[in-house]
Amino acid sequence: MPDIASRLIAWQRRQGRHHLPWQNTRDAYRIWLSEIMLQQTQVTTVIGYYERFMQKFPTVQTLAAAPLARVLEHWSGLGYYRRAHHLHAAAQSVVNDYGSVFPESQEQLMALPGIGRSTAAAIAVFAFGRRAAILDGNVRRFLARHHGIEGFPGLPAVEKTLWSLAEQLLPRQHLESYTQGLMDLGAQICTRNKPLCAQCPLCSDCVAYRQNRVQELPTPRSGKAPVRRDFCLLILRRNSRVLLETRADRGIWSGLWSFPECNTSNNLAALIRTRWGLTLIAKTAQPVMVHKLTHRTLHITPILATVRGRLRNATALEARFLSLPEARQCALPAPVRRLLEQKMRFSAT
Ligand code: SF4
Repeated sequence: MPDIASRLIAWQRRQGRHHLPWQNTRDAYRIWLSEIMLQQTQVTTVIGYYERFMQKFPTVQTLAAAPLARVLEHWSGLGYYRRAHHLHAAAQSVVNDYGSVFPESQEQLMALPGIGRSTAAAIAVFAFGRRAAILDGNVRRFLARHHGIEGFPGLPAVEKTLWSLAEQLLPRQHLESYTQGLMDLGAQICTRNKPLCAQCPLCSDCVAYRQNRVQELPTPRSGKAPVRRDFCLLILRRNSRVLLETRADRGIWSGLWSFPECNTSNNLAALIRTRWGLTLIAKTAQPVMVHKLTHRTLHITPILATVRGRLRNATALEARFLSLPEARQCALPAPVRRLLEQKMRFSAT
């Protein structure tokens, strides 16, 4: 029975992915950008963002020199915006601390913002041909099933076992095909729901498959349900323009543009007058929108309001009335962008 690595490498060469926009290159910048985008987002979604991002910021120098707001604009819609903040900071570190040349070792890569052990390993393998083990979510799932490892993979003891296994399985050569094979297997065969075990090159010695426990492994997280958060978003319209403001540096959607947030629709006229010096003419509450984040569920009540007057912003956040085409250019969180498009329909009717 050939070992796991050789079977995986042979399968990857036959049936894996070979033409993704960040493959067939040793350019660490291109590889790093793809790895960061892929951290919490699927390949099919990433491709378009990646290509547009590369056009806008073709080198680490262009990314480092760009204002953060511009980077966020091009990240808008990908979610997990902390990644974009880190990406920008890491680009500046590569330019300022490494003379615009990415460091090659896994340890040095891990010292850059936003690069964890697995991402550093992937960059080291694909850009520099190093021998290093990855352990992203897909690989955790595959290893937990294939080796029948119990326990939630996020627990330190389970994670330690998985890392040790990932290191032991590393082949001596063909690291790129092996690493890509792990990624491809997790994305295409050993998927979270309905894995294609009959097509799996490692089915013959998979513990979960043999014991009919594929749906049980990896062990799900126990305990806390996501925290519910309720708030309102004020869609303030003045003529054909809508008010957007920047979010605070902390909390969800930090640094992005959004409709102003408030906790309640009570005293809305007073709030609007105090914060922006505007007069409320009419308002309607819209149906609640539910948006799930990893550890939180947002229950958002949009309030559509018509206002008049000259904007006198009394808050520390930047606020502007923008036309819809201008608003669309801003870095917006996904639910805000959805509301903006709905609002355009309201305006058209
Ligand atoms: S046999 Fe099924 S569960 Fe086991 S590694 Fe392959 S796809 Fe995953």
